[in-house]
Amino acid sequence: MKNTVRLLFIEDDALIRESVSRGLQQDGLTVNTVADGTSGLLVLKNDPYDLLLLDLGLPRIDGITVLGTLRQQGNKIPVLILPARDTVADCVRGLNAGADDYLVKPFDLLKLAARIHALLRRQAGRAGGTIGA
Ligand code: CA
Repeated sequence: MKNTVRLLFIEDDALIRESVSRGLQQDGLTVNTVADGTSGLLVLKNDPYDLLLLDLGLPRIDGITVLGTLRQQGNKIPVLILPARDTVADCVRGLNAGADDYLVKPFDLLKLAARIHALLRRQAGRAGGTIGA
């Protein structure tokens, strides 16, 4: 039996949301998406995911706030943030807020998939589990 890796992708840009989730699904990952931070927090409260892909520029609650709220709630889900190209400060803020990694937009899908798998392996190592093995 194969473990299915489940990702949540919070992204307000419909084009990016669809192309990225399609690409990752072809890579064998299960991707669910929501379009804003409020919905993302709600979903994560009720449903455990293996990894969160988080856009930073989001309507209502921005990505950094989503991340800070999750960590405050004790949620240790691995988080990969996706800052816009010209906002280096956001990478730093994101990492300080508890992100595990980041990939600046626009990014290559293969690179994103590789980062995701690396994060999952690290996580599995920490937990002594076998996700991604
Ligand atoms: Ca955005």
